[in-house]
Amino acid sequence: MYKWAAQPTEGFVEKPADTRPLILMAHLDVVPIGDPAAWEFEPFSGANDGERIYGRGAIDDKGALTTVLRGVETLLEQGFTPTRDIYLCFGDNEETAGDTAIKMAAYFETHNIEPFLVLDEGGAVVDPGVLPGVGHSDAMIGVAEKGILDVLLTATASGGHASTPPKRGATARIGRAITRIEKHEFPGSLPSATKHMLSELGRYAPGALRMVYANVDALAAPLTRALQLAGPETAAMTRTTAAVTQLSGSPASNVLAETATATVNLRLAVGSSSSEAIAHLRRAIDDDLIDIEILTVTEPSPVSRVDNQAWEILKSAARWAFPDAVPAPYIQNGATDARRFAHLSDAVYRFAPLRMSTAERYTLHAANETVRISTLAEGGEFMMELITQVDAR
Ligand SMILES: [Zn+2]
Repeated sequence: MYKWAAQPTEGFVEKPADTRPLILMAHLDVVPIGDPAAWEFEPFSGANDGERIYGRGAIDDKGALTTVLRGVETLLEQGFTPTRDIYLCFGDNEETAGDTAIKMAAYFETHNIEPFLVLDEGGAVVDPGVLPGVGHSDAMIGVAEKGILDVLLTATASGGHASTPPKRGATARIGRAITRIEKHEFPGSLPSATKHMLSELGRYAPGALRMVYANVDALAAPLTRALQLAGPETAAMTRTTAAVTQLSGSPASNVLAETATATVNLRLAVGSSSSEAIAHLRRAIDDDLIDIEILTVTEPSPVSRVDNQAWEILKSAARWAFPDAVPAPYIQNGATDARRFAHLSDAVYRFAPLRMSTAERYTLHAANETVRISTLAEGGEFMMELITQVDAR
């Protein structure tokens, strides 16, 4: 953590009443490279073809990190001295849900420091098409993130030889449980932040669709359904999701399983809770012989405000650096270190100021991760604008 300390203003210039600091976050760690054969460039070479940088972490999160450093260093070169403190909080274990961000947040808590604005990775400037009918780029700024719940389902049975199988063995029980979870989806709804996103972006939709987005409150039910049908990414915006990710059964092909397990990874909708999710799972599975154990849980984050100065400044800096993109709030499906700061302020936002096509976004946590060099410069411009605008308040 680095503190760019405020300097007293010279002369008789009045100090702003609001001196709460700006916190800029990023993380230095990366996920593993996966299959090396899938990479066209050496994953840690930082290959540069003049247009793009390739390598693990190019976007997530060295890309956002670069924009922070570029913004800060350029301002330093220009002799800019902030009148508010600015903290650079770079974690080293975000991808493994580590505790560095927790420790950094504890520093602010024990020193009684309430930030004016916290910015971490999250949304980005994305191609047109996020919303059906909306034909411009969007600067998606995360105002909340879903929670994460990992549970282990276990079925036990007496085992024995596979030549004489009983009616409902442990593996069959787990299979039934999985099918029932898939069938009984969590109830859908439109959180207020998602409604706000639809109405902001919908203003740029053509005629009839614009009317739909303008009446998002009245049309919440059909819009929820439409988002669920539009694909997994928009469907996940409307509900808690459950994915069965790991399975285990018997150790040999001719041995009945004494224990069969399934790990379920749930992403908890903002406004819901892990206890609600467990209750839903129990009802869906409807089998008292399946044990449900909580492995890890992070509750959904609170929703940051979109009616304050911090939000206005963020939107204005995004418009300045990306004039073709419309800024809008959204609820993130993935987790970030920003959740560790959520209790410090109601102005915690998640936005990596980088332009990303859908194809580029799919290289995140996958092979051939890549970022455009030109957008690293745009991101630096965004950070300079953000820092100077916050400082001017
Ligand atoms: Zn990340």
